Amino acid sequence: MTVSSLAKKLVGVNNIVIENVELEATSVGEQIVIRARPRKNAQFRCGVCGRKCSRFDHGKGLRRWRAPDLGAGTMIFIEAEAPRVNCPDHGVVVQQVPWARHKSRFTRSFEDTAVWLSLHLSRKAIAEYLQISWDTVGPMITRVEQELSAGRSRFDGLVNIAIDETFYKKGHKYLTLILNHDTNAVVWAGKGYGKAVLEQFFTLLTPEQRQRIHLVSGDGAQWIKNTVYAYCPNATFCIDPFHVVSWCTELLDAVRKEEWNKARMELAAERKGQPKRGRGRQKGGQTEKTAAEQRVEIVKSAKYPLLMNPDNLNERYKTKLQQILLRDRRLATAYRLKEELRLIFKLPVEEVGAAIEKWRRRAWSCRIPQFVELQRKIKRHKNAILATIRYGISNARMEATNNKVKLTLRMAYGFRNIDHLISAIFLSCGNLPIYLPGRHPLPATHTL
Ligand SMILES: [Zn+2]
Repeated sequence: MTVSSLAKKLVGVNNIVIENVELEATSVGEQIVIRARPRKNAQFRCGVCGRKCSRFDHGKGLRRWRAPDLGAGTMIFIEAEAPRVNCPDHGVVVQQVPWARHKSRFTRSFEDTAVWLSLHLSRKAIAEYLQISWDTVGPMITRVEQELSAGRSRFDGLVNIAIDETFYKKGHKYLTLILNHDTNAVVWAGKGYGKAVLEQFFTLLTPEQRQRIHLVSGDGAQWIKNTVYAYCPNATFCIDPFHVVSWCTELLDAVRKEEWNKARMELAAERKGQPKRGRGRQKGGQTEKTAAEQRVEIVKSAKYPLLMNPDNLNERYKTKLQQILLRDRRLATAYRLKEELRLIFKLPVEEVGAAIEKWRRRAWSCRIPQFVELQRKIKRHKNAILATIRYGISNARMEATNNKVKLTLRMAYGFRNIDHLISAIFLSCGNLPIYLPGRHPLPATHTL
């Protein structure tokens, strides 16, 4: 094997001319620098569209692109001239090179590796493994996503959609996401939330595509319904079950906080007038906790056992849940209402109407003001709940996609540019065929 073919293997590109390969000393060891140039027919092409253009100038001279490291972490660079060309459509731009995407300082195979890893590893692991700063991964994600999305229409065959708003940064910065219920893929993401953002999405659809929209699910806000009906004449509005359950869990947690404050006040009153006890272990062993102390402790640690789906509780949480349900009647009532509402979504459709009415009667008479108010809200959304169950909107699949989005948002936290964040969402939840360099694309089932 010649040095030239070995160098081509190292950078994963064939159609280039290798001029020289050398080892270069650095402060931490050595790196391999491969001097290369595009073949004649690949020279002087526009970096954006690839069209053959006239040469404009020699640009900024020699440039380097980082390629995937050699086994023991030795860095490899491609070094080449980067002349500028004059494209009739894109103006004066740096010429295209076969080994890298436009405006990147990394080779395609390096970027493809980084992006694939970003779907599987933590930010810290990627930065350490690839010896790069996390900031450089955001632009790579956008470049790869745009390349994979080019020529695909996410709106083809769109029939049933979900509208979801999610915040992506502290300080209430929101994203509006549109999901395709049938493929579970995110098909659109817009910065912000509200009517104007949602309208941006609907105006992207053709009149035929808007007419084809059959089911739209969301959190039940009136402005969402109005916007949907204004654009999609044939749509039926459904409500995502997890929104309904989350209304309930939020109230349950509010009740828990009230009970916790009550317990703390009772404890303070009990301690008033009693001699002060020292902190920590008393002489002669552990002092027995008073009933008030136990109650404060139990209510405080009851958040997750109460809010989580009981099927997902471990033994420790199950015990805690039993303790709280036995000791606190008000919390027990609120908890049962939450669970009953959650289970309504699992009933056969013909039983749901009666079950909702029964639930509302119980909530109306439970004497917890928040739940009395909630039963009114459930009444307002009864038709949407019935439609959800009738058409079999899958909560589990929606939740799975939502969790994936949340995971991506956490991974992409720190990207300064929101476009990188949106690209990261399309990569992880857009059913795009992402594969490692030299591997086969994912099977056709992963297409949009
Ligand atoms: Zn061009």
